[in-house]
Amino acid sequence: VFTSGATEANNLALKGVAEAAWERGDPRRGLVTLASEHRAVLDPLQWLSRHGFRLTVLPVEADGLVDPQRLAAAIGPDTRLVSVMAANNETGVLHPIAEAAAICRAHGALLHVDAVQAAGRMPIRLTELGCDSIAISSHKIGGPMGVGALLLAPKHSHIPALIRGGGQERGRRGGTHAVPAIAGFAAAVSEIVAEDRLGALRDMVESAAIAAGAEPVSVDAPRLS
Ligand SMILES: *Cc1c(COP(=O)(O)O)cnc(C)c1O
Repeated sequence: VFTSGATEANNLALKGVAEAAWERGDPRRGLVTLASEHRAVLDPLQWLSRHGFRLTVLPVEADGLVDPQRLAAAIGPDTRLVSVMAANNETGVLHPIAEAAAICRAHGALLHVDAVQAAGRMPIRLTELGCDSIAISSHKIGGPMGVGALLLAPKHSHIPALIRGGGQERGRRGGTHAVPAIAGFAAAVSEIVAEDRLGALRDMVESAAIAAGAEPVSVDAPRLS
């Protein structure tokens, strides 16, 4: 589903799931996320927590990663949805999405992944990650602003619209498609898949900072390369 950006894609995934729960009379009201998520995830979840849902915000460990055991302990029979980002926008750490997906599946909870920072830097496949939805953004991979997308697993493809009207995106997002922006997004995807310059840039910035006297911080957690 093409959206105006990842903020809208995250809102669609999170609030859409809640709306689906209301429509189908699903009694589960538990939502779980991480304290290090982007505001585009935390804000809609906090809004939901003021409208009948119960939100658990888990801390991350010293290395910036969620502890899978802590995650498993937070998910219970009342958990409707879990939201865990693929790569953090400040530290670049990669959360164990496939592991989180297995935990969610075991409890019948949905897993939404904000993959804005991971997209274009590592493979993002719904089937491999095992999650139910993925939010991505064009301008974070060098494409134009004003477009993003929500990727939906087939069993989760009937998410109710946030923006209604016109029936576009099979009724999941009303409004005329921003075709020029979407074409630019596609061009950016093709280009970024072909290059890998961010890891080298990150290493350059870190070694320059250390040469200038910054304390080296060793991070063992998996990070974007
Ligand atoms: C930038 C960013 C967003 C928001 O994306 P927009 O397309 O600007 O709405 C969401 N999540 C993460 C992790 C981001 O870095």
